Amino acid sequence: MSLFSAGEWQQYQRHIQLEQVGIEGQFCLKNAKVLVVGAGGLGCPVVMYLGAAGVGNITIIDGDSVSQSNLHRQVLYAFSDIGKPKASVAADRVKQNNPFISVSDITTHLSASNIDELIAKVDIVLDCTDNFTTRLLLNEACLAHRKPWVYASVLGLEGQLALFMPSSACFRCVFHDLPTDIADCNSSGVLSTLPGLVGLLQANTCLEYLLNPQQENLSRMHLFSGKNNQIRSISLQQNPQCDACAPSDRGAAKKALRYKQSNETKQAELNTSTSDDEVNIHEAEKSLLALGPQVFVQQLLAVRNLKGSSDSAVRKHAVLLDVRSADEHRGFNIGGQCLPLSDDFTDVFHAKHAERTKSIFIYCQSGKRSYEAAALLQAKGYGRVYSLEGGLGELLRHPKLVEKLQEG
Ligand SMILES: [Zn+2]
Repeated sequence: MSLFSAGEWQQYQRHIQLEQVGIEGQFCLKNAKVLVVGAGGLGCPVVMYLGAAGVGNITIIDGDSVSQSNLHRQVLYAFSDIGKPKASVAADRVKQNNPFISVSDITTHLSASNIDELIAKVDIVLDCTDNFTTRLLLNEACLAHRKPWVYASVLGLEGQLALFMPSSACFRCVFHDLPTDIADCNSSGVLSTLPGLVGLLQANTCLEYLLNPQQENLSRMHLFSGKNNQIRSISLQQNPQCDACAPSDRGAAKKALRYKQSNETKQAELNTSTSDDEVNIHEAEKSLLALGPQVFVQQLLAVRNLKGSSDSAVRKHAVLLDVRSADEHRGFNIGGQCLPLSDDFTDVFHAKHAERTKSIFIYCQSGKRSYEAAALLQAKGYGRVYSLEGGLGELLRHPKLVEKLQEG
């Protein structure tokens, strides 16, 4: 009886030849079980390389589907995958590379209601999400189940990475004052290659651990700069007062997790999203001014056609306003005037449009700036002001609406 099938033996030759892996190491990988949370920018390289390396049991959890704005960094996905669930597309792609492993996919967000079951059966967890709420949940669950996890995050040109072991400094020791509104790569920009680079470091950390789980972990955070390709490492110290892992509270970690479940399930489900164009506007406020793409376009066209469709009529009754920067407007726009949101926005607008009877339709990239602009104009006494909810990011998911707008 052999440890590997003929196919596996062929597939893993270059690993087996490597002194640091060898037959023993490859067999460890074959029996390893990992959970990958998120199949976005970090998750794509992580699952591809862990699968290719022969990690025998991979579970991918992600509740989102592929959108076009993912493709510049999530290179596992094809243009034809837009709209399909990420977890299942990623699992299929990994199995195409390596049919000798088991890959399961779960199309839902990680939450307090499913995290225990998922973590209990794996050897290590990879955090490929983009938000602090999920990381906090992961930290507590991994402490409670005594499992290691690899944290990573990317933003702009910077990336961070750390392996958190149950017996060393935890995530909460490092980030004690958790930011609630920190930008992530979905609401801000990220260089295409950054998640790829940091995701590979994350996969490498995972392989290192699986090949030698007993090795002493030097608790360190690695900071990667995409500007000069430099990695700095800083030591992490356990915080004796840490809410999550302080020795006196260790036994209470599980209790704390249970306690948080009822409150955080909903929050975590909301926040594990890896979809783009997140808008943090209170729902009730939003409904006053914001219109979804369908209604926004319908209303705009209705007002434009109200008194004939000549240019002057359009100018008279409907104002279409792009409140992004001039650069963004030049890059792509759906028409209208460009008037970037700034301190003197309302004054500049008022100078151009003194009469308050016009219908004003405002757009930006995500719906956040346009909402702010609409609220400012409303406060100045403009009655009919509408913000495009979800912005161009959302509108562009409906090509027929864009066509209609361009025709109208
Ligand atoms: Zn801690």
